[in-house]
Amino acid sequence: MSEFILGVDLDNVCADYTAGFRNFVASELKVDKAELGPITAWGYQEWGLDDEQFKDLHSKAVSQGLHRNLPIVEGAADALWRLSDAGIWIRVITHRLYTNWSHEKAVSDTVAWLDKHRIPYRDLCFLGAKPQVEADIYIDDAPHNVTGLRNAGNEVITFDQPYNKDLEGLRANNWVEAEEIILSQAAKSKGVQSQLPGIDPGADRLDRKKSSN
Ligand SMILES: [Mg+2]
Repeated sequence: MSEFILGVDLDNVCADYTAGFRNFVASELKVDKAELGPITAWGYQEWGLDDEQFKDLHSKAVSQGLHRNLPIVEGAADALWRLSDAGIWIRVITHRLYTNWSHEKAVSDTVAWLDKHRIPYRDLCFLGAKPQVEADIYIDDAPHNVTGLRNAGNEVITFDQPYNKDLEGLRANNWVEAEEIILSQAAKSKGVQSQLPGIDPGADRLDRKKSSN
């Protein structure tokens, strides 16, 4: 049986980029974090940053380990473990090679972050401009990625963020909803099995296995 592949985006889907970037911008510009509110339109104009300023601050943040230290989005690791147990192939897709000169840092910090948060994955794809790799369903937050993928004929779940409310179609407000949608799409398409009895769910299984040895 061929695998059902989930293409999962990292920033603002698994990793809370906005929270990490907010901390960085607040300390860099010496403003109160409370002044940096929710981002309701793609880009960071609402924080007073034009494209150039955003790129500069983003590059600086990446060079200082932003990706390594981002908080995880609630429920992401547990949901991905359960999906993986159900036989779904997890393909992590990220557009973090967006800035020049910091690729080594972006890649190594991404891998370290995935390990630290026990995210299961079988492939890790770093993409430039194109939104697409081969996957049966995608989950992404960026309006241009969701639209680009859909226009190319792909099934895409929008991971809810304040700046993507206008997008219609499949939407998950959190990882509980995302897991449900992915399982039902996978079941429709390939007949994926649910988790085998006797196997502990959850991302801490490696730790628990180690400690019980
Ligand atoms: Mg994203």
